Amino acid sequence: MSKSPEEEFPQKAFGWAARDTSGHLSPFKFSRRATGEEDVTFKVMFCGICHSDLHSIKNEWGFSTYPMVPGHEIVGIVTEVGKKVSKFKEGDRVGVGCLVGACHSCDNCSNNLENYCPKLIFTYNGIYNDGSKTYGGYSDIMVASERYVVRIPDNIPLDAGAPLLCAGITVYSPMKYFGFTEPGTHLGVVGLGGLGHVAVKFAKAFGVKVTVISTSPAKEKEAIEHLGADSFLVSRNQEQMRAAMGTLDGIIDTVSANHSLLPLIGLLKYHGKLVMVGAPEKPLELPIFPLLLGRKIVAGSSIGGLKETQEMIDFAGKHNITADVEVIPMDYVNTAMERLLKADVRYRFVIDIANTLPKTA
Ligand SMILES: [Zn+2]
Ligand SMILES: [Zn+2]
Repeated sequence: MSKSPEEEFPQKAFGWAARDTSGHLSPFKFSRRATGEEDVTFKVMFCGICHSDLHSIKNEWGFSTYPMVPGHEIVGIVTEVGKKVSKFKEGDRVGVGCLVGACHSCDNCSNNLENYCPKLIFTYNGIYNDGSKTYGGYSDIMVASERYVVRIPDNIPLDAGAPLLCAGITVYSPMKYFGFTEPGTHLGVVGLGGLGHVAVKFAKAFGVKVTVISTSPAKEKEAIEHLGADSFLVSRNQEQMRAAMGTLDGIIDTVSANHSLLPLIGLLKYHGKLVMVGAPEKPLELPIFPLLLGRKIVAGSSIGGLKETQEMIDFAGKHNITADVEVIPMDYVNTAMERLLKADVRYRFVIDIANTLPKTA
């Protein structure tokens, strides 16, 4: 472990890393392990920029280590597979999402819920089984155990498909688990960003009624005409919010900024469920009375296991669901982070790694 990141392993790798809590990203030479027996190595084509990349590079959750190569919406083309790999071969279109390892022996792992394994290993800012740091997808190559690699359906373009690996599974998994895909469901989606816009698309593909709840009246036209939402509520418009009270079976709340839960709980029917998938830095206030009086549930959900991630992306392929993306060159990433902070993106930045990263070497 005393070796430099560049010399630690045999496969040369190049990416962009944050070096400190300023979060500023710059070119970084490092290395990845040789393709092990169960490993898949792939050339990274695109990588989405997730809001958690922004939190992580600035250490806003308090567990960042540097240098950090972020990125967990990684897609590419397989260049090498280990001899025990059975699911993939050279040339396959693949992706890696938020995790690259887990214990494989706990209850959650046994139930294909590696995402809830207490020993899960994050794709970046984690420590791998061999003691090395994990580095994410803002880089030219990726190596992962085949268990953590998913196949991208042929009809899903790699750039617009990349965000499904985090944003997609983050909203798909709770929809399934909390029963929001049942016919007749009326689902609310709070926040129309990277997660929210994909949530609307999945919900419509499941055939349920969708109401988008947003602070921004300007997004109404887009939500209804382009994304197919059935209705739209401006959360600051008290008249609209009051008229919609008690109408929703469930809500997926994607907002990671501080916000009030009371009006959202009010939108739920009796026994309704409010599921948080955004991660605000500070605790939110939780009003209990309206929960008791309506036997309502406030819950959380975090990404999904690998089996479900493959199921999600196959479902996306079947229903032609992709993210709406703005593809950017690697050297635009710091500007993209500033814009992301202001929610100035429709709806996900995706870095064109293969075409633009090498030019920054
Ligand atoms: Zn993410
Ligand atoms: Zn486990």
